[in-house]
Amino acid sequence: MLADLTADGVAGPEEVSLLEQAVSHRRWWCDQWPAGAVFVAGLLAQDIQDALLELRGRWPLCQVCDEMEPHALDVDPELGEDPYWVCPVTGEAVAAVGSLAGARR
Ligand SMILES: [Zn+2]
Repeated sequence: MLADLTADGVAGPEEVSLLEQAVSHRRWWCDQWPAGAVFVAGLLAQDIQDALLELRGRWPLCQVCDEMEPHALDVDPELGEDPYWVCPVTGEAVAAVGSLAGARR
């Protein structure tokens, strides 16, 4: 997750502390439901999206269809293994969660 934040240059102190809070919450959550551990990457991504929405707006912004109004990527599946950042307009998978840097130009 930190890699994705860094990719967009939004890994400031506030963002990193948000991430740490989200990680510690999900760590607790994993203890309660060990079988859910495989879902943590996707859930963390959504936690961070929610937290950043309040702090600085939508993240991560879609760069696949630039000509359209700015919109954020969605995590797909919301609860599943191997989550991807997906453009909600085109349905295109942009990058695996954690690998956003490779998709940025
Ligand atoms: Zn898009």
